[in-house]
Order: sequence, then structure tokens, then C-alpha cells
Amino acid sequence: MNAPDKSPQNAAIASIEHWIGGRVVPGASGRRADVFNPALGSVTGRVALASGSEVAAAVAAAQAAFPAWADTPPIRRARVLFRFLELLNRHRDELAHAITAEHGKVFTDAQGEVTRGIDVVEFACGIPQLLKGQFTDQVSTGIDNWTLRQPLGVVAGITPFNFPVMVPMWMYPLAIAAGNAFVLKPSPLDPSPSLLMARLLQQAGLPDGVFNVVQGDKEAVDALLEHPDVRAVSFVGSTAIAQKIYETGARHGKRVQALGGAKNHMVVMPDADMDQAVDALIGSAFGSAGERCMAISLGVLVGEAADRILPKLAERTRALKIRNGTDLDAEMGPIVSSAAHERIAGYIGQGAGEGAKLVVDGRTFEAAKAGAGCGNGFWIGGTLFDNVTPEMKIYKEEIFGPVLGCVRVKDLAAAVQLINSHEYGNGVACFTSDGNVAREFSRRVQVGMVGINVPIPVPMAWHGFGGWKKSLFGDMHAYGEEGVRFYTKQKSIMQRWPESIGKGAEFVMPTAK
Ligand code: NAD
Repeated sequence: MNAPDKSPQNAAIASIEHWIGGRVVPGASGRRADVFNPALGSVTGRVALASGSEVAAAVAAAQAAFPAWADTPPIRRARVLFRFLELLNRHRDELAHAITAEHGKVFTDAQGEVTRGIDVVEFACGIPQLLKGQFTDQVSTGIDNWTLRQPLGVVAGITPFNFPVMVPMWMYPLAIAAGNAFVLKPSPLDPSPSLLMARLLQQAGLPDGVFNVVQGDKEAVDALLEHPDVRAVSFVGSTAIAQKIYETGARHGKRVQALGGAKNHMVVMPDADMDQAVDALIGSAFGSAGERCMAISLGVLVGEAADRILPKLAERTRALKIRNGTDLDAEMGPIVSSAAHERIAGYIGQGAGEGAKLVVDGRTFEAAKAGAGCGNGFWIGGTLFDNVTPEMKIYKEEIFGPVLGCVRVKDLAAAVQLINSHEYGNGVACFTSDGNVAREFSRRVQVGMVGINVPIPVPMAWHGFGGWKKSLFGDMHAYGEEGVRFYTKQKSIMQRWPESIGKGAEFVMPTAK
């Protein structure tokens, strides 16, 4: 059965433009990129690629909107977010369709993505509480001292293709709730959901200019990084770009959080529930075709766990339901682009060449089997390697596709040492039935997000998301209380009054104005 497709791109080739100052602004740079439906391999849109002057126009609109928005009482800003929340819930499937149409992930997974974004909006609705300062009465005789947090100004978000709704929502709900104005630069591979979100924000009553979208590529990013009115940059994407964004942003005096790539390990101890571990590895390696920064791409099989689990993994990898994401039975959809397809296929060949045992080869998957019209889409099947070793490229590098490599180790200490030696440290999991193993593992592992019998431990909205090592450049994690701190600066006020002055009687219940 297919999910009814209500995405706007379904009809003809769409022109995908910018959103500046509360309206669609057609791209004027003369540069555009094709947007594909990856399941079909067909062009569905042409996205504008902003020049420096278009970025400057978006920043100017944000800068103009900022003072009044920053002055709006937090509870009134929260009310806009409450209305936005209602609209998001009403338009959840429309957003999910827009994701599936350009990213390719299966519709039910896209619905989950929207829900995880909505979690952050719910958290941001509590902004009056989150912005509460600290007060000390009588720091000296007749003097009080307090701290409060104020918004930064114009802040920018630069986001990857793999979560076109959720990752921007890691950023802008908290940024605007805290009183900032926002410029989003989404991935040009799946740019349409950003415009849907912009319209919903406007419908919710957000003043024009508080949220803007500039479509584009490196040129737009460079213009944001160099613009003196952009106070902070949140980036999520691959490590090489994250590091560059961090360094360039800092050089231009900006606050930067830059989340990078990943290579996530899942340890399976011999005492783990093997069926549970198989489910976890299959879902987390092949869900969203492995195009998640928290996907498990390496199974670390301890002792006899390897021989017990590998035959089941092979069987389940071969049995994956790989279909057009609009098919409600699909477990895995296509790869996002032909370039990504080529990269992933290249890694599979390289892994085999390096001596890893290619147990299931996803390159043999026949695209036509994915559904009607899929013959020209960007398809690759689930791929399973055994006997992967730490010197291999397929161990060290992020493949970002449906490829699961298995490494055999003798004990927990070897597993932890292996993981701690890897340059990435985004997510990790350990499957075991031993509480002490779980405790030791969580304490010793050098990774930012840890799952015990949980394969993809993406923290909830109020906890904050962030990896360690080359998976995050900057001090603060995305969303949660660290997100609030990132988008605000602390002010300390010390005050003395000789005597308080009465204002006369007030008989009406005071309200926020
Ligand atoms: P990407 O690095 O190619 O692109 C991310 C953003 O940077 C996009 O908006 C893109 O247009 C822009 N960009 C690309 N090249 C640039 C350049 N040379 N200069 C300036 N900007 C540039 O990443 P992607 O392929 O869109 O996304 C996949 C990557 O994102 C993976 O590495 C994945 O692990 C990572 N990711 C990380 C997290 C996390 O939380 N750590 C979350 C999601 C995705």
C-alpha cells in the first residue's frame, strides 16, 4: 500500500526559491541545482543557489526584525511556538512526504523524523522557564546582583541532507524562542521542507524576517560565515566541512557549534540477547539506508557472539524490503544521490579489495525490484562485511550508506580500546545482560552518546545532542539546555536604589504586554 502523496513537487518540475522577510524571493544569482526524486532518479525541482548579495538580503531582513522580536516577552514568543506546534502536528504527513520525495527515506521513517523535530519545538515552548536568570539578594548592603540571558542577534543554521526537517529543528525553535532572528541554509539536495516550515511559522504568527531561508551551496555558506551581522553559526554535516566552518566562523568572531561525521560502533557481548542484537543491528545499520549520523556502521562482536550472530545478520540483510519510500511496507529506500551511490559502491569494492569478507553485496540489488519506475533510481542493497580490521578504509572512514562492517574482538577491554582509538565519537551502543559490563562500558567509552541495549541513543529534546572528538567542534551540544545557552549571552546586573518609589495603586490583574 502506498502513502497518499501530497507533496507539492509531485506535479511538475518545481522552482525552489529563498524565503526572505516573510515571502518567497526568486533566486537571482543565475545559478541553480537539480533536485531529484532518488527513488526514480528523475529531476523534480531546480533549487536556487544564493549569491553573497542574496545572503546579505536575508541577513538584513533578519537584522531588521531582531530588535522588536528580542523585546517581545518570552511568554508571547512561546505562544507563537505553541501555534507552530499545532500546525506542525496538522501538517506532519505533508512534511514527511516532502522529505521522502527529495531524500528518499521511507515515509514512516520520515514521519518519525518530523516527530523528533516536534519534540524540540515542545521543549522550546518552555522558553520563559528556560530563560529564567539567577538572583542574589543583598550581595552588599542595599545591593542586589542578578544574571540574565539575552539573545545574540542574527544566527545562522547550515544543515545536511539527511534530516531536512529534524536537524533545522535542532536549531531554529530554540534560537527564535530565545529572541534571535534566524537564517537557515538547508542542503540543496532536499531543500523543499525548509519552505514548508517557513510558511507554517508565518501562519503561526511569527513576525516576518525572524525566520529566513537562503538556498545554496558553498558560496552562501561562505557569505554567512563572513557576514559581520551573523553572531553565531550552528552547523551539522560532514567532518571536513564542520572543521572548516568552526575555524572560519571563529576567525570572524562568531560563536560556532559544528557537528560532524560519525562511525558508530555497536558492541555485542556473548551474554546479549542475540535476537534483540540482530534486530538492533539491522534497524540501525540499514534504517534510512544508513544515511544517519547515528547509524551503526560497525558491529563489534565479542568472542563467541560473532559466530552466533553473523548467520542471522546475513539472512536478515538479504531479506530487507528495499522499495520506493512511498511504499508503506518499505524498510529501506534509495540512496540520496548518484554521487553518494557511486561513493558507497566504491567503498564496497575497496572493502573487498582490502581483504574483508563480503558476506552480502548490496551492489547486486536490482533497482527495478524496488517498485514501478525505480529502474533509474539510486539503489543499493544492504551490505554486510565480516573480518573488518582497524587498518581498513571501510573501518576508518564514514561510508554513510547501508554498509555494516563486523569486527571480531576477544573481550570488552579490546572493544573499548578499539572504539576509543577511532577518530569519531558520535554514538555507540553495547548489548549485554550484565549490569557491570554496561556500567564499565558507559564510563570508559570516549563517545558523546551511549546506548545500553539501545542502538541509536539520540537524546531527547531536553537532554541535548552532541558527539566527541571529530564528531563535534565547539563547546556546546545541539538543543537541550546547552542549546539555550548557545543562543544567548549572559549579562550580570548589580543594582542599588536608595529607596523604592511607589507607583500608586493598581487594581487590574497585571498581564504580559
Ligand atoms: P555536507 O558536509 O556535504 O553538507 C552539510 C552542509 O554544508 C550543507 O548545507 C552543504 O550545502 C554545506 N556544504 C557542503 N560543502 C560545503 C563547503 N565546501 N563549504 C561550505 N559549505 C558546504 O554533509 P551532507 O552530505 O549533507 O550530510 C551528511 C553528513 O552529515 C555526514 O557526514 C553525517 O555524519 C553528518 N551529520 C552529522 C550529524 C551530527 O549530529 N553529528 C547529524 C546529521 C548528519
